[in-house]
Amino acid sequence: MQSAVDTFQGDGPDREFQNYLGRGEFRLQQCQACNEFIFYPRVLCPHCGGFDLQWRLVSGDGVVYSTTVVRRREEKGGPYNVAIIELAEGPRMMSRVEGIAADKVAIGSAVKARIATESDPQGERHIVLFDLAEAGSSGVTNAGGGAG
Ligand SMILES: [Zn+2]
Repeated sequence: MQSAVDTFQGDGPDREFQNYLGRGEFRLQQCQACNEFIFYPRVLCPHCGGFDLQWRLVSGDGVVYSTTVVRRREEKGGPYNVAIIELAEGPRMMSRVEGIAADKVAIGSAVKARIATESDPQGERHIVLFDLAEAGSSGVTNAGGGAG
């Protein structure tokens, strides 16, 4: 049953999510039947099975729900952080908290979303990263560099 959804190609929900990020919009699906926000993007609401899902702009506010340091050789960039962020709207998403040492990310810290673009062998992919909210949430001037 699930494989039919997992192999959904073309303009599926993940593609739409990417398209919004590409325009600088962090949107999540909201189920019109039960009002729950949903992540990952999908075609059916995992809470009630409804399929009237609308893309809503979200605040980008969240808190660190769990955090892990992934060890990596210094020459490949050093250790990095993998965190599960609980968004203010409810869903949790796996991401990274940047601008802080990987092992200094603390559970419960307030974070703010930022859209970044990464290149991989399949091409460019837009991702949502997080910065600590208290580190100037209203004016992120260094959005990762490398633009150019
Ligand atoms: Zn629902």
